[in-house]
Amino acid sequence: MRFTFVTLFPQIVEGYFGASILRRALDAGYLEIDFLNPRDYSKNRYRKVDDAMVGGGAGMLMSPQPLDDALKSLRGDSPQARIVFLSPVGKPFRQQDAKRLAGEKHLVLVAGRYEGIDERIVELHADEIFSVGDAVLTGGELPAMMICDAVSRLIPGVLGNADSLSIESFEEELLEAPSFTKPDEFGEKRVISEFLKGNHSKIAAIKNRMAWSKTKYFRPDLYLRAKAKQ
Ligand code: SAM
Repeated sequence: MRFTFVTLFPQIVEGYFGASILRRALDAGYLEIDFLNPRDYSKNRYRKVDDAMVGGGAGMLMSPQPLDDALKSLRGDSPQARIVFLSPVGKPFRQQDAKRLAGEKHLVLVAGRYEGIDERIVELHADEIFSVGDAVLTGGELPAMMICDAVSRLIPGVLGNADSLSIESFEEELLEAPSFTKPDEFGEKRVISEFLKGNHSKIAAIKNRMAWSKTKYFRPDLYLRAKAKQ
């Protein structure tokens, strides 16, 4: 799958793909990553990409022309590309979105900077808009990397053990049950004794109960969704 990051700061994103699972996935050809820098499309003689807000307001906005030209050229080369904008005003990004987007061939992630992007560009080019949480970051690069990461690990071949996906948080709307590794005793803390007895159906039943209670406690919103699905 191909990902294009539209960003004024590709160097922020590049480092993330230099190690671990995503590096291996790139090397193995499961992922392809490239960058589109709106500054390269600016017609301003100083390659300016921002301007003051019309009507007043603190801070600068990303100007329409460089982004419009960048995204038009991209659409010309890749008409099937799905263009996602990152913004605090987008819909919350969820695991279900990651699953759906993993079916795309080419995902374009548009990272804003300054006080955001001229609204007309969003209207002209966004196929969808995602927020990654109710907090404001300085730029869309982290949210774009987060979406790319969440989508990438669902692409067949990227994770060594695909089974691990089926028991993770947000499957069936539930949070994952607590997990333990060795040693069985860590200071005064012990793993749940039933987990040591090798009865896998009993362990699965306990984990399921714990997943429900953890979800009810930490994420009542998910709990209600999970209940409604039952
Ligand atoms: N003025 C904007 C507002 O109040 O909604 C915030 C702009 S923010 C400082 C700059 C850029 O960071 C945004 O254009 C967006 O791309 C990105 N960004 C910040 N917080 C985000 C979030 N929670 N989810 C997704 N993108 C975010």
